[in-house]
Amino acid sequence: MTEVIDGNAVAADIRESLTESIETLESEGVTPGLATVLMSDDPASETYVSMKQRDCEEVGIDGIHVEIDSDAPAEELYETIDDLNADPAVHGILVQMPLPDHVDERRVLRSVDPVKDVDGFHPENVGRLVAGDDRYRPCTPHGVQKLLEAYDIETEGANAVIVGRSNIVGKPLANLLLQKADDGNATVTVCHSRTEDLAEKTRAADILVAAAGRPEFIGGEMVGEGATVVDVGINRVDADTEKGYELVGDVDYDSVEATAGAITPVPGGVGPMTRAMLLYNTVKAAGLQTDVDVELP
Ligand code: NAD
Repeated sequence: MTEVIDGNAVAADIRESLTESIETLESEGVTPGLATVLMSDDPASETYVSMKQRDCEEVGIDGIHVEIDSDAPAEELYETIDDLNADPAVHGILVQMPLPDHVDERRVLRSVDPVKDVDGFHPENVGRLVAGDDRYRPCTPHGVQKLLEAYDIETEGANAVIVGRSNIVGKPLANLLLQKADDGNATVTVCHSRTEDLAEKTRAADILVAAAGRPEFIGGEMVGEGATVVDVGINRVDADTEKGYELVGDVDYDSVEATAGAITPVPGGVGPMTRAMLLYNTVKAAGLQTDVDVELP
């Protein structure tokens, strides 16, 4: 029987533990604060930001939302980040990507104070993660690790194959899984758009992570018997629904289900974990900036 990995349930457990950590902070007079900055008219980005704000409210994090017109001068965004860096009530800053073309994304990533960089994308935090001394793990890769842990899926010695080499998913996850650590110690292969004989590599995986942004492109013939399949993909495809689209993963669930030992669904797999791990990083950030010891799940 294929085990279906329930990201909603694992994320709910993490949120519950975080509520206790937030109570500890509150007892020391600290309310964790997360600033979200939106400079985009993209409906998907708007939805992501409002979900993050709702998540904050549910667990007792102060949500501060800043919206900047997508055609405003880039300076407005840079100044907003400076102000948030200086604001002691803000412990975490998240600038929703993608940004308009006239904004220098690299400058934005570098200008968020590294101790408030709850996305974990500042070069200082990327470097620390690679060196095995992480401060904030990027939310999606961290969420994948937590899912594996929750289902006792051993990473030590496992062949982990990641399809996708982006800076937000593939690369940080590869680095995390190869760390000398209980939730690492895997033998990691990273595949990408120029990889040859992709199916041969994915079939050898004990843990296969799909993060290519290609709807249902991992089929049953690409998965080894009993493998754990983690589907990071979220793709909008046209469909005869009220909204005119539906969300599908990078994995062709129906054809993979028969072969896989365990599988994450879309929705309800990695997505809720990404959201929970943002709250985790915000609570961690609040603890670090106020010298309050908080236990984290
Ligand atoms: P990206 O577009 O930045 O990177 C995609 C990667 O896939 C690239 O490195 C590319 O080399 C590789 N790739 C593309 N086509 C390929 C092919 N045919 N064969 C092998 N490799 C191929 O994407 P991203 O930001 O890493 O996101 C990947 C997917 O994950 C998207 O669907 C995105 O929406 C989703 N996502 C989900 C969450 C979540 O919380 N579940 C979070 C972030 C991203």
